[in-house]
Amino acid sequence: MREKALFVPGPAAERMRSAAPPRRREAIAEKSARAQELAARLARAYPQIECPLAHENAFQLLAAVILSAQCTDAAVNKVTPELFRRFPTPLALSRAPLAAIESIIRTLGLFRAKARSLKRCAEQLVREFDGVVPATMAELTRLAGVGRKTANVMLGHAFNTPCIAVDTHCKRLANRLGLTRQQDPVKIERELARLLPPAQWTGFSHRLIIHGRRICNARKPACARCELASLCPSSQAEPK
Ligand code: SF4
Repeated sequence: MREKALFVPGPAAERMRSAAPPRRREAIAEKSARAQELAARLARAYPQIECPLAHENAFQLLAAVILSAQCTDAAVNKVTPELFRRFPTPLALSRAPLAAIESIIRTLGLFRAKARSLKRCAEQLVREFDGVVPATMAELTRLAGVGRKTANVMLGHAFNTPCIAVDTHCKRLANRLGLTRQQDPVKIERELARLLPPAQWTGFSHRLIIHGRRICNARKPACARCELASLCPSSQAEPK
């Protein structure tokens, strides 16, 4: 769904506009410097970026990320212990009856489709990758239930490969922060990648997601307590 206007027009908004830099076209070097300062502030605000999905290996993380589509990490963490206890390997999951997988994950939205994806993904891992989760974007995105965002999460968290995972929060914040005007996740990923060195990609995109959940809410951004407000062209915070 497309984001609505980034800045709510009206007298109050006009009065507050001076709190933040104006939305204008920036030279790439200027935008890159601002992105690096944003990254530094986010790193201070959220020093830890552990993946919130409970897992002990790449296979478990892959299953958990597939299950996390359109539901909360907490809900996924409630079902995965039983799933991994019953089916601890790709081979075991590939042989699991679909009904057994469904019954374990039935509290999650889209559980039937997710059960099918899990089983097909496990079958592919066994058949095409000797039961080992592959570590490249091209191979990961061949797996059932794995799109570019899931593959990026895997690359960043399981394989320590610099990546930018663009979910709904990352997309919203990248736009509000004036780092992109794109709506397509792949284009956003490319634009953010141009602004920051690879060593910062994983942390920056992960922290944007955390910040989107905690502060820069889709409907009601808490600009008044946002560490990024002085660098954000969409800020509605009062000038300090
Ligand atoms: S919450 Fe922060 S990042 Fe979001 S619009 Fe407000 S100032 Fe910008």
